[in-house]
Amino acid sequence: MPANELLEVKEFLNTPKKVFITSHRNPDGDALGSSLALYHYLRINGHTVSIAFPSEFPSVYKWMIGSEFILIYDNDPEIINERIKEAELIFFLDANNLSRIDKLGEEIEKYDVPIVHIDHHMNPDTSFTYSYVDPKASSTCDLVFDVLTGWEETSFIDNEVISTCLYTGILTDTGTFSHNTNPVLFEKISRLLQAPFDHISIQSLVNNSLPEKNLRLLGYCLYKRLEVIPEYKTGIIFLTKSDFAKFDIQRGDTEGIVNYILKIKDIDIAVFFTQQPTIIKISFRSLGDFNVEEIARQYFNGGGHKNASGGSHFKGLKSAMELFKEKLPEFFKKHKTNN
Ligand code: 5GP
Ligand code: MN
Repeated sequence: MPANELLEVKEFLNTPKKVFITSHRNPDGDALGSSLALYHYLRINGHTVSIAFPSEFPSVYKWMIGSEFILIYDNDPEIINERIKEAELIFFLDANNLSRIDKLGEEIEKYDVPIVHIDHHMNPDTSFTYSYVDPKASSTCDLVFDVLTGWEETSFIDNEVISTCLYTGILTDTGTFSHNTNPVLFEKISRLLQAPFDHISIQSLVNNSLPEKNLRLLGYCLYKRLEVIPEYKTGIIFLTKSDFAKFDIQRGDTEGIVNYILKIKDIDIAVFFTQQPTIIKISFRSLGDFNVEEIARQYFNGGGHKNASGGSHFKGLKSAMELFKEKLPEFFKKHKTNN
C-alpha cells in the first residue's frame, strides 16, 4: 500500500470505528495470526472489532488469545451478517479474492464500505479500496508487520500478544522457517522476539500438538495411499469419504500430510486429493521451479502460491486424479528446466 494510502487508513482510524476482519475458509496459522494481531492492535486503540471466518479453525490454535471471540459463518451467519452491515471498515486478509470466502464475501459485496486487502497470494483482485499485497512475502503476518510498523514504528510489537500472533503466522506459513525466508524476514522475527514470549513453546504448540489419530492417519496415507511417479518427480496421496469416517477425522486433520511427500529424494511435486461431502479438494506442493499455482488455477478452479496451491474438482475423485495425471507430463516438461 503506498504510504499515503496507509496514512489515509490510519487517519480514518483516528476516531473509534466498527471494524470487521475476515479471512479464508479453513483458516490456518497465518489467517488466525494476521486477524488476531490486527484485532488486538485495533482494540487497544479503542475500536469495536469482530473477526469472522467462513469455517471453523483447527483446534491446535485454540490457545491463541482472542480466538474464543472468532465468529464462524457456518455456525452463526445472522450475527455475522449484522456485523458486516454495521462495519465502517473491513480488513480482508490472506486470500486473493472475495470469492474465496463464499457467502461471507457475497454479503460484504452488498455494502459500499471501504475494504483494506492485505495478502500474499498470486493473482490478487485489484479492485479493493486499499491494497497491501505482495506475492513474494512469506505470509500475511509479514505484511501486517509492515502495516503496523508503518503506523506505529515498532513499539506495538512489544505487546507480547500481538508479537505472538505475528510470529505464529510467519512460523506456520514458512513451514517453521524452511521456505520463503529472507534476511529482512529474519530481521522482523528478531524484532518480534524482543517481546517477552517463549517462541519455542509456540513452536511446540503448533508443531507438536496433534491428536494421536492424526499421526495414525498419516501412517496410513504413507503406507497405503502413496503413489510415486519417479519419471515426473511426483507423489500422490488420496483419501476417500470412508477414510474420513474410519479415522474419525475432519478436513482440518489432514493439514500437512501433503508436505511429507516432498521429503522423498528426487520428488519435487506433491498432490493430495480428498473426497469432501460434495467436492474433491486438492492440495498441491512443489519444490523449485514447478509452479503449481498454474495447474491449480488452470484445471482445478484454484490458486495460491508458486510452491503451495489448492483447488477443487466437481466430477469425483477418479476424474480429478485422471485429469491431474493427464496434465502432468506437459506440466513437468514446461517447468522442469531448473529442477
Ligand atoms: P491448502 O493446500 O493448504 O489448502 O492451500 C495451499 C494454498 O493454496 C493456500 O495459500 C490457500 O490459500 C490456497 N488455496 C487453497 N485452495 C484454494 C482454492 O480453491 N482457490 C484459491 N485461489 N486458492 C486456494
Ligand atoms: Mn498465508
